[in-house]
Amino acid sequence: MKKTSGMDRAVTGKWRPATQAVRGGTWRSEHGETSEALFLTSGYTYDDAATVAARFAGEAEGMTYSRLQNPTVAMLEERIALMEGAEACRAQASGMAAMTAALLCQLSAGDHVVAARAAFGSCRWLVDHLLPRFGIETSVIDSADDDAWEAAIRPNTKVFFFESPANPTLDIVDIAHVCGIARANGITSVVDNAFCSPVLQRPLEFGADVVAYSATKLMDGQGRVLAGAVCGTEQWVNEMLLPFQRNTGPNISPFNAWVVLKGLETLSLRAHQQSENALKLGQFMEGRVPVMLHPGLPSHPRHELAMRQMDACGPIFSFIVDGGRAQAHAILDALELIDISNNIGDARSLMCHPASTTHASMGEEARAEMGVAEGMLRINVGLEDVDDLIEDMDRALKIAGL
Ligand SMILES: *Cc1c(COP(=O)(O)O)cnc(C)c1O
Repeated sequence: MKKTSGMDRAVTGKWRPATQAVRGGTWRSEHGETSEALFLTSGYTYDDAATVAARFAGEAEGMTYSRLQNPTVAMLEERIALMEGAEACRAQASGMAAMTAALLCQLSAGDHVVAARAAFGSCRWLVDHLLPRFGIETSVIDSADDDAWEAAIRPNTKVFFFESPANPTLDIVDIAHVCGIARANGITSVVDNAFCSPVLQRPLEFGADVVAYSATKLMDGQGRVLAGAVCGTEQWVNEMLLPFQRNTGPNISPFNAWVVLKGLETLSLRAHQQSENALKLGQFMEGRVPVMLHPGLPSHPRHELAMRQMDACGPIFSFIVDGGRAQAHAILDALELIDISNNIGDARSLMCHPASTTHASMGEEARAEMGVAEGMLRINVGLEDVDDLIEDMDRALKIAGL
């Protein structure tokens, strides 16, 4: 394969984000294909035994096995790193593979983790159930309480772990403040940036150490594949993440990596248009439902902070109705256009009831502590005409008595 400028940081480092989204990381073969090639191969062959020996010894560049390197996956990793402003990135099989790898690769028995209590259900499961099984202590705190982070630090605290905005409560964390406390105390901050993607929020600019993704969400953006990514410094990725990843194998399929590469080309357009639609739909609903949890609206307690950290409000928001699960389900059942679906980041508008789906398994007590009310609904606003979305929501709310 001939390396084109796409893989040369001296050239691509100068490009602006929109250019990186369509060209960053492109690595062309001798055929000069326009679109990134899909290398569905598990292994590689070598011209002679000395070549493969040198590659295994780390003395020569080149691929050896797709759990270690794959050209299509490498293109995705380079593009995400460029968009994120990160030195390095490794793609993963799913968002949860990314979160698990980002945490387990650097933690040992006896360490302590401080995590935001409002989080995606499986992220909470890692903190509440998986890590403690391996002797890793965990504390969950109210992430909107800026003092709670420092107060939770113990001598053995190694990692801060949070999402902003959080799923599904849309809690906003002051990223610069919390990551600053982490830095000052020798703690590694791991930020799950799934609700934003690098086009809406770049946590590294606010002092985060590691940014982890469900690329299933906005990056693919068209509801097709599971994917994940972990970004950090070259040193952290090489010394912490790579030994874990190469020996445990949470790797993404080259096919899925290729699909996400295609998604990145339109990520900025989608994320900004979906944010605009989400703002308009939110403005329509404000006052009509008792509680709006929407970072783009001044009624959000951390609206100003959110808008300082994010380039736009993002496509996802939640709201709470007084009639509990029955009224929330009635709204879902009355929708004609918006799908009942628990995915987010998709170009289609999707709505779900977290208490009976994404956050069902964590139990009532943990849901109450996190603020996942029985009457909460979460919506991902898509690329449809926003007037159609407003009409659908208006009709569904009316049918449900609102
Ligand atoms: C969806 C999601 C995940 C998990 O990602 P998968 O790709 O589904 O494994 C993790 N964190 C957040 C905030 C998410 O929304």
